[in-house]
Amino acid sequence: MRRPLTPRGRRPSLLTTFALVSLLPVALLGFGLSQYLAHQVRSRAYADARQSAVLVATALQTQLTPYEFRYGLRQGDLIALDQTIASLKASGVAGATLWDSRGRVLYADDRTSIGHAYRPGPRLRRAFGGRVAAGMSPGDWSGKSYEVVVPLRFGTPGHVLGALELELPYAPIQTAIASDVRTTYAFIGGGLLLLWISIFRLVAGASRKLRRQADENERLALHDHLTGLPNRSLFLDRLDHALRASTRTGSGVAVLLMDLDRFKEVNDTLGHHCGDLMLKELASRLSGVVRPTDTVARLGGDEFALLLPSVTQADAGIALAERIALALDDPFVIDGLPLEAEASIGIALYPVHGEDVETLLQRADVAMYMAKETKTHYAVYDADVDNYRPERLVLVAELRRAIENRELVLHYQPKATLADGTVRGVEALVRWQHPERGLVPPDVFIPVAEHTGLIRPLTFFVVEEALQQCGRWREQGFELTVAVNVAMRNILDEEFPNELERMLDKYGLDPSVLELELTETSVLADPPRAKEILQRLRDTGVSLAVDDFGTGYASLAYLSELPVDEIKIDRSFVMAMDREEQHARIVRSTIDLGRNLCLSVVAEGVESAEVWERLAELGCDSAQGYFLAKPLPPAELTAWLEDRLPRDLRAEVA
Ligand code: C2E
Ligand code: CA
Ligand code: CA
Repeated sequence: MRRPLTPRGRRPSLLTTFALVSLLPVALLGFGLSQYLAHQVRSRAYADARQSAVLVATALQTQLTPYEFRYGLRQGDLIALDQTIASLKASGVAGATLWDSRGRVLYADDRTSIGHAYRPGPRLRRAFGGRVAAGMSPGDWSGKSYEVVVPLRFGTPGHVLGALELELPYAPIQTAIASDVRTTYAFIGGGLLLLWISIFRLVAGASRKLRRQADENERLALHDHLTGLPNRSLFLDRLDHALRASTRTGSGVAVLLMDLDRFKEVNDTLGHHCGDLMLKELASRLSGVVRPTDTVARLGGDEFALLLPSVTQADAGIALAERIALALDDPFVIDGLPLEAEASIGIALYPVHGEDVETLLQRADVAMYMAKETKTHYAVYDADVDNYRPERLVLVAELRRAIENRELVLHYQPKATLADGTVRGVEALVRWQHPERGLVPPDVFIPVAEHTGLIRPLTFFVVEEALQQCGRWREQGFELTVAVNVAMRNILDEEFPNELERMLDKYGLDPSVLELELTETSVLADPPRAKEILQRLRDTGVSLAVDDFGTGYASLAYLSELPVDEIKIDRSFVMAMDREEQHARIVRSTIDLGRNLCLSVVAEGVESAEVWERLAELGCDSAQGYFLAKPLPPAELTAWLEDRLPRDLRAEVA
């Protein structure tokens, strides 16, 4: 089950969360700060009030002497004070009481209290102690006046002889406080709001950047870097979605797989740069022929996939394939060079050809190879033509991966001359080291590879690997030739001879070290064409052998026209020649035929000394089979060769 990619929906906004979360500390900070500053404002206002009270007291004190404190104020003093205080009322003094240090009232607005002694309250006691004391007037709960008691000192060092209690109207103080507090609140509120907004904007900016980065990363992870098209994982995801949607709506889905027919040629001859340009151009042409709801993806290399979700007619896929073919009609102009591009497109439809992603892709893949095989631009998957059983389909997918992952290995079987037993060549036989199934024999997967077109990369792999190994043996002093089995499809591949030359070049080997084995049936498939291509191959200097000879019905005349060097008698005849006269006759006549046509004759499947002797007597040139050695991994064959070397030398000396 594929895990769906995260849908690009509304994420809970990080920014909203931040805005809410950051608001709380900012509000708390604002609250604390304003409390503190309001307190400061109040203290300041009270300090100012006290300060002005002290000034008033200082002014009044000039009218007093220690004498008045001891004996009381005379009428004239009282009137003078009344006047002074009346004049002070304008500057905000509501009332005044003069005390001596024993708590006796010396002067008051209310004349009746003059001369009476009271138990001094805390403020008065404080003032008698020499300090200014202040607070709301006791008993005045309406909070209308502010009372400041100022000690009055006389002489030096300054004895406190009494205190002046001044009533200041509270309203102006309160107004001043309220106005200052408002200003403070406004500043703090405004300041913090500005701070919060700038932090918010900073964070919003950073968050936008992060979001863009995340989106970009997501885009890169789901898109092909070269073409910008969706990549394989995005394609699979969309296909998965399309299939689910179609299950609900009952409509169909079309999947198209395509690759360019000779893209490798462009890459190899003009370089990767041109190959890349071509792929980009192809991507844009493909994007141009689809509807906005369709998906064009690059799966890798020159392989593209198209998805048509919710198709109602089965031929929607065909119509698209035709549009694609049309779009490729104009040559691709790459670096000024016009290049022709041809594509093979395989079409598979949901639900007729498969109901899940895997099956649909495999069937589109098979259809693509059908298109290649029939040399039509496109093919719709056809179960009758395909006759693929599901397990074979699995095998196709696995084999494709095996070739990519190099799970294929080569074993080598030696071939010796019958006359003296000298080993001059080996045949490379491919095996599939399957991670679960173990070593899979070629009979199981070669037909599949031939059927699907995977034989092309497979053969190139085998040739390259075999040549590399051949080079190693030559370095170790074993002058061996190496034979590789090639399929009909390889021979018909126009590129094949060039590719062989390129690989021979790469390993610095002479073409004569390479032998190609073609089955008799394959050279019979398309005689004129086969003949022409075999000639081209032969011209490169490699040698050619007809494999499994006797199983087909090649006419003598035709065989004599083919540019081949060797025939290999099929092992079914050789293995049974000591038991069945019929088979022995075929072997004998094949040897004669080969001799007459000046071809070297090799007997395959020699399992016993008797057969070996018999073939030698009949004049067969070489033999290959379990009697000599089974196909062996390269290291084991090296050991076998080393072990055998002295015998070969002995044979040569004798
Ligand atoms: P082939 O080309 O005729 O290869 C010889 C087959 O006979 C090999 O089987 C080999 O193991 C087997 N053999 C050799 N000596 C004896 C013997 O004395 N007795 C018996 N009973 N068998 C013997 P293998 O390796 O299983 O290959 C089977 C076929 O698969 C090959 O037949 C060839 O047609 C195909 N094949 C193998 N490797 C490749 C390859 O790289 N490319 C292609 N296109 N075909 C390959
Ligand atoms: Ca062979
Ligand atoms: Ca054979």
